[in-house]
Amino acid sequence: MKESVAMPKVWVLGAGQLGAMLRHAGMPLAIDVLPVPLDSTQAPTLGATDIVTPEIEHWPDSAATRALSTHSRFINHPVFARLADRLTQKSLLDELGLATAPWCPVTASTLATDLYATLGERVLLKRRMGGYDGKGQYWLRRADGDEIPADWHAAAIAESAIDFDEEVSLVGMRDRDGNCFFYPLTLNLHTSGILAASVAPLARLAPLQSQAEAMLRSLLDSMDYVGVMAMECFRVDDRLLINELAPRVHNSGHWTQAGASVSQFEAHLRAICGLPLATPAVRGTTVMINLLGTERNDQWLSIPECELYWYGKAVRPGRKVGHINLCTTSPDDLRRSLGALTRLLPDHYGEVLSWAADSLP
Ligand code: ATP
Ligand code: MG
Repeated sequence: MKESVAMPKVWVLGAGQLGAMLRHAGMPLAIDVLPVPLDSTQAPTLGATDIVTPEIEHWPDSAATRALSTHSRFINHPVFARLADRLTQKSLLDELGLATAPWCPVTASTLATDLYATLGERVLLKRRMGGYDGKGQYWLRRADGDEIPADWHAAAIAESAIDFDEEVSLVGMRDRDGNCFFYPLTLNLHTSGILAASVAPLARLAPLQSQAEAMLRSLLDSMDYVGVMAMECFRVDDRLLINELAPRVHNSGHWTQAGASVSQFEAHLRAICGLPLATPAVRGTTVMINLLGTERNDQWLSIPECELYWYGKAVRPGRKVGHINLCTTSPDDLRRSLGALTRLLPDHYGEVLSWAADSLP
């Protein structure tokens, strides 16, 4: 009998929920995925054929991150510095001629009046590094006479406020030979800058799919990227503007755990381990609800379609502590399940669940 080929070990730089879900996705393929906490003072012992992938775009210096980030098989290594800094990320989008919100750097001498003159009455400052979940954003409004706060000089970019119709994202993957595959576009609801819920796929978004794929493909190709990348967009009429890129598995792709034959986590592992990829088959319509600062309620599990991912983190206001995927082939069943979930979640989820129900065909 032929012995099966041993899969490489995959080390994840970071040990949050994305690392945990990568580990989970590796099990059926016997890929040993080993998340490493960012602050670990112990450098892991890496084998020459082991693979390293991060769950975040930039990381603090520690014994562990130094060992992992200098490994010869740290996949996509040059990409992270470029995309982690919003200034170089935006510059790349400009170089490739991909549409984004109009923007400019905020230098030491930039005045708010300069920004209003070039970007309009409402301007969003975004920290170049380290922003996430709406943290690292600052709104300037000419009508309110706002000025640039001192600590935002030379550390931020400024963007025009986009009056978008809605937010969508595209999660795609690229293999070592340059073949790209994509999930259908995902509709996303953000509240206070943080993802609250996603719905995918939606037939009404299909006309935008080829535009979105062409944009993401040109990015993936330009960086010779291998693995999963997410592209967050604003839809303005029939046009997509890229908001930001995530060179990793992404919250707006969590629905693929229930709604696709291959989840974004497995897709990423397959790509970086050199296993075949294909366009994932989609199983139905999926709603993903992010659990933000909410105590766990095991009654959620009484809903037939409920697939709960609980991250096991301390519950703090607004913190991502888990998510629920609901996937069905019948919009009516999905509406019923959303109704049941409304009764089991705190009141403030009402708006989010109604948004999801109203998004369904
Ligand atoms: P993430 O957690 O996805 O990395 P983030 O905090 O890094 O998010 P963005 O994705 O850039 O930041 O912005 C968060 C949200 O803020 C967006 O999803 C969108 O709702 C809103 N937003 C961002 N940029 C703009 C803009 N130029 N005009 C209007 N709204 C915006
Ligand atoms: Mg974002």
